[in-house]
Amino acid sequence: MGNNRFKLLIVEDEAGIASFLEALLKANGYQVLTACSCSAGLSLFASHMPDLVILDLGLPDRDGADFIRTVRRESAAPIVVLSARSTEPDKVQALDAGANDYITKPFGNAELLARVRAALRAARQGEAQAGPGARFCAGGLAIDYERRLVSVDGREVKLTQTEYNIVCFLSLHAGRVMTYAAIARAIWGGTDAGSTKKLQVNMANIRKKFGVRPGGNPYIRNELGVGYRMADGDGGAKNAAGNKED
Ligand code: CA
Repeated sequence: MGNNRFKLLIVEDEAGIASFLEALLKANGYQVLTACSCSAGLSLFASHMPDLVILDLGLPDRDGADFIRTVRRESAAPIVVLSARSTEPDKVQALDAGANDYITKPFGNAELLARVRAALRAARQGEAQAGPGARFCAGGLAIDYERRLVSVDGREVKLTQTEYNIVCFLSLHAGRVMTYAAIARAIWGGTDAGSTKKLQVNMANIRKKFGVRPGGNPYIRNELGVGYRMADGDGGAKNAAGNKED
């Protein structure tokens, strides 16, 4: 199964970076389209419906965040932001606008390719998990959505309703950084001054119940000052019978 069934759109105004990315992704078998402005990117997106977008935030005509908001009105296609801006508010703004992931320039080729694969896989997993009997597995962590059971290394973990909802929400967006505000909105229906604190308390309990030492949680990573990221699932969703999706 090659990557050539995936069409990627690069929106980047620095010609050197755009052509480097294009060559890298083509060499890895992807179909690639490139645009050097926000408006050119939006029209290519509408006409080609790519499977994933790699987006620079600093574009000559409009801000990349406008691109994200416009695309998100009609499409859930994964958007990986590639930017020289590395401050936390920039990341939070891009993620809250609907970006799936964030890579800071300069970046390593292997890291970029891994993030692209993870975002494509998470998108397919999200679709597959809509069905009954769906399960999520990442290493030793398993979630049975139908029975609302969570286990780590075969041992059942007893979570409160809120803790389960948090774990479940993160798993449905596995591989993607979810901001504190996005999680709070999904769990409590809104954000207030106390919601980040409540989230931290719940997360500390989840980690304790998962039996992982502080700083060494392989399932839920804390992206400091930004949000939490659930580890990528094992090669696509599985149904109750354990069959892989592909
Ligand atoms: Ca730029």
